[in-house]
Amino acid sequence: MGKKENGARRLPPLKLSSVLIGCFLAFGILALLIEGIALTNTFRRMTAESRRTEIQNRGQILSTKLTRAGYLKNTAEGNSSLDAEMDTVAEAFNGRILLIDGSYRVVRDSFGIAKGRYDIAPEVIRAFRGENVSGGSQSRQYLIQATPVYDTVVVRDSADSGSPARTVEGVLLFICSTEAQNSEVSQLYTSIWILSAILIVLMAGLSIFLAHRIVKPFQDLLAAMNKVAGGDLSVNVEQNTYVITKRISRALNAALQKLKSADQSRDEFVSNVSHELKTPITSIRVLADSIMSVENAPVELYKDFMNDISQEIDREAKIIDDLLSLVRMDRTAAQLNRKPTDMHEMLESILKRLRPLARVNNIELTLETVREVKADVDETKFSMAVMNLVENGIKYNVKDGWVKVTLDADHQFCYIKVEDSGIGIPEDQQEAVFDRFYRVDKARSRETGGTGLGLTITKEIVLLHQGIIRLSSKEGEGSQFLIRIPLIYAANSTRTDAAEKRKSEGTQERTQQ
Ligand code: ADP
Repeated sequence: MGKKENGARRLPPLKLSSVLIGCFLAFGILALLIEGIALTNTFRRMTAESRRTEIQNRGQILSTKLTRAGYLKNTAEGNSSLDAEMDTVAEAFNGRILLIDGSYRVVRDSFGIAKGRYDIAPEVIRAFRGENVSGGSQSRQYLIQATPVYDTVVVRDSADSGSPARTVEGVLLFICSTEAQNSEVSQLYTSIWILSAILIVLMAGLSIFLAHRIVKPFQDLLAAMNKVAGGDLSVNVEQNTYVITKRISRALNAALQKLKSADQSRDEFVSNVSHELKTPITSIRVLADSIMSVENAPVELYKDFMNDISQEIDREAKIIDDLLSLVRMDRTAAQLNRKPTDMHEMLESILKRLRPLARVNNIELTLETVREVKADVDETKFSMAVMNLVENGIKYNVKDGWVKVTLDADHQFCYIKVEDSGIGIPEDQQEAVFDRFYRVDKARSRETGGTGLGLTITKEIVLLHQGIIRLSSKEGEGSQFLIRIPLIYAANSTRTDAAEKRKSEGTQERTQQ
């Protein structure tokens, strides 16, 4: 399949304006062609019809005159005025008139060549039966009209009381050429094609003009997109000619808005990171300068200062570690090392590790397992998420306070609650604490070695596990963080979903001055 696709020759992309021009011209030419053919055919039919009717009428008039004059009764003498009329009519119609008597003998021929011969053409035979016969051939370019010439004597039909019955005494045969009409039709053909050619040229011009007008809004959009691609995010795309261009403009503006805010948030992040990284370095410099400025400082003082410097270095290392954790999370989210993990065991080991820290302020650390449960998690990452919460519970607590971790589950989800009796988080800052580098009390956070990245990392990890995290807190009373993750990992919900969710939640960098 892949081979076939590779082997298949790919057509180059088509230019929209060329496609439109092609379509306009194709439709236009087709319409002209159909119209030209229909027009000439109708004209041909109508001229043939009117010619036939004219010949029929002329034949009828001549036939009546021949009957009245009793021409066929006295062929030997003839009738000079009727002879002249027949010749004139034949000439006018560019044709020939034959008069045939009851014995199928030609008694008069306007060409004067068939007189005395017999004519038993089918039209003549039918005319002797009283029919007015019209015929002819388009290809041989002639029309034929056979009109019965009746006897002067009118006999009453015994069976039919009203209508007079007459005998057919002879037949007037009218043969005329249609050459002139055909040449008129071909003239019309020529005129139509010349006109069509002119119209096609005009149409081509109009098609090019229209195609460019139609394509222009899309070209405007492309120009705007190229500007954006060139790095100009200040472009305001507005192209409302068509509903579709209006929608594209709107989508583009929305994408631009996102790009702008991503740009802004990246700038903020970079400046925050620089600021955070600079702070310990500044402290180290101040400490080093101060000890150096003291002449003959005692070793104890040096030790003191070196201890402070070492703490600042630890802080710097912690910030870098946390930042790396965040970056790695973005990169390796798709490769979460999930496996069914005993959550109770995992929580116990977290609490065990944090007990020494809790002991410092005599904080009671307890774990309540309502239901033992196994969940599909990446143990290392998920431990880090919960550890951040428990550590915060200890750090932002009061002396002799408590931190309680509760594990529960239902058939679908695993719930981990981390509650503390600490200082709490003001309501208006509860959303912001999940943002990078956000701290409610910067001094306290620094004192406790905080980086302002702990909750961001926790939230990222929970989202990667297709979970949610909720915070409820009351200042001065304590906080409660609740994590809910699905017990079984749904493979079709990917990292992209988590990333999308993160973005839709509008996580923005914030600077706390
Ligand atoms: P930090 O490294 O400063 O602890 P976090 O991202 O973990 O950063 O937390 C952000 C801020 O949220 C903290 O600086 C603190 O002000 C506040 N905070 C977090 N957890 C708690 C808690 N359990 N009680 C009170 N305040 C908290």
